[in-house]
Amino acid sequence: MVLKLYNTLTKKTDEFKPLHPPYVGMYSCGPTVYDYQHIGHMRRYVGDDILIRVLKHSGYEVKHVMNITDVGHLTSDADVGEDKMEKGALKFGLSVWDLAKKFEQQFLESAKALNIQKPNVLMHATDYIDDQIALVHMLEKKGFTYVIKDDGVYFDTSKFPEYGMLAGQKPEALKKGARVDFVKGKRNVTDFALWKFSPASFDSAQDGSAKRRQMEWESPWGVGFPGWHIECSAMSMKELGFTFDIHTGGIDHIPIHHTNEIAQSEAATGQPFVRYWVHHNFLHVEGQKMSKSLGNIFTVQDVSKKGFDPMALRYLYLQTHYRQEMNFTWEALAGAQKALQRLREEFLSYINAKAKPGCAQFEQEFLEAINDDLNMPQALAVVWELLKSDYPPGAKFQSLRVFDNVLGLELQYQKSNMNNQKEKIPDSIMNLVQDREALRKQKRFHLADKLRHKIRKLGYDVLDTQSGTTVKKISTD
Ligand code: AMP
Ligand code: ZN
Repeated sequence: MVLKLYNTLTKKTDEFKPLHPPYVGMYSCGPTVYDYQHIGHMRRYVGDDILIRVLKHSGYEVKHVMNITDVGHLTSDADVGEDKMEKGALKFGLSVWDLAKKFEQQFLESAKALNIQKPNVLMHATDYIDDQIALVHMLEKKGFTYVIKDDGVYFDTSKFPEYGMLAGQKPEALKKGARVDFVKGKRNVTDFALWKFSPASFDSAQDGSAKRRQMEWESPWGVGFPGWHIECSAMSMKELGFTFDIHTGGIDHIPIHHTNEIAQSEAATGQPFVRYWVHHNFLHVEGQKMSKSLGNIFTVQDVSKKGFDPMALRYLYLQTHYRQEMNFTWEALAGAQKALQRLREEFLSYINAKAKPGCAQFEQEFLEAINDDLNMPQALAVVWELLKSDYPPGAKFQSLRVFDNVLGLELQYQKSNMNNQKEKIPDSIMNLVQDREALRKQKRFHLADKLRHKIRKLGYDVLDTQSGTTVKKISTD
């Protein structure tokens, strides 16, 4: 069965065919590490994680590359405003480098708590400045650039006739929608910065804010820093080649960031850049946009502090299709936590059942759902249908294990908090577990099972896995 993905480039749900099967190259625009990553950001990364798991489930070998934007992302898409990193450094009273470390760490912790698999390659924009300069150089040689004095090196979008195709708009339409902020000297409103000059490298900045930047580099055009878009083109092509399979991001990246990535990459290489563009929709809270003034910006750590298992958040994300706007409510999270808990309990209750092959009918339905543009709400519905079915527990157990490779809900674990710290199991319980092990070795399974029930009544579950027996506290949420 073929995986179908909605492709923003073609505006259709296309059959996914990688360039070089079984390998798949995928690039995700990563976080700008200037502030906390909230549950809206994290929805996107869970979405990417699901896509990767589905690809792996289909037998592909995925090389997943993600960037960390630690420089050059301006507060406005119109190439004016401050660098988000420099601004964040002031806000938090940290150097830009320490700011980047702090929030990369917070991002990685959130990702771990949500059981998001690590990318194969995580690239920091500041480690690849030379590659970005080299790409601007290529564009310059091919005549796609011009310099605005005391401002930067710009890409001339009128020289790239396909500009705007991702957003389904011709340059004229994009011009109409362009922001009012406008850099003096731009030839076209859609032109964008490839390299910005540091205010300190000329006498007076256009906006008068001539202060020295913490991050700046030499370049053939003057001291400065890269435009935001160029890092993603330079780093993705470095790791995945001029043309690669999948590029992901948020829907807000379509009209500018990704449109500009396509223009500069294809202009430089003369090759198609990306074959499938996947974009995730936004998350709102209680029906409203997340914003500081509403006080409704929450992180995964906040969710955890309120006593929720981060995995319940993952479950909640899966209940909305990635291309639909999602509305987060605490009530819905509590519902997701209950559902997840029930699912885990059912799963654990099948653990000792006689091994059986999985349930082919449900495995087929599950596959149809995930291959249908990652229809996870439907995939979850199949999980619950399976539980209700008359299949023997051993078969259900087998299928659930297969499903959880894709869902990533860690059905077999009881995480006690964000950092995966395991709660200490009391010695009295450990003694019972050891007694049970001894009985199992003696093949006195009936007695071993009795002890297992006793342990369960005391609030702990014993799991027999291939790597040995583990014991976990049963969550009481
Ligand atoms: P920011 O850190 O606010 O600049 O956001 C960085 C990126 O995260 C945006 O470009 C979006 O793609 C994504 N993002 C921000 N807010 C949300 C949200 N509420 N829901 C989903 N994605 C978001
Ligand atoms: Zn990007």
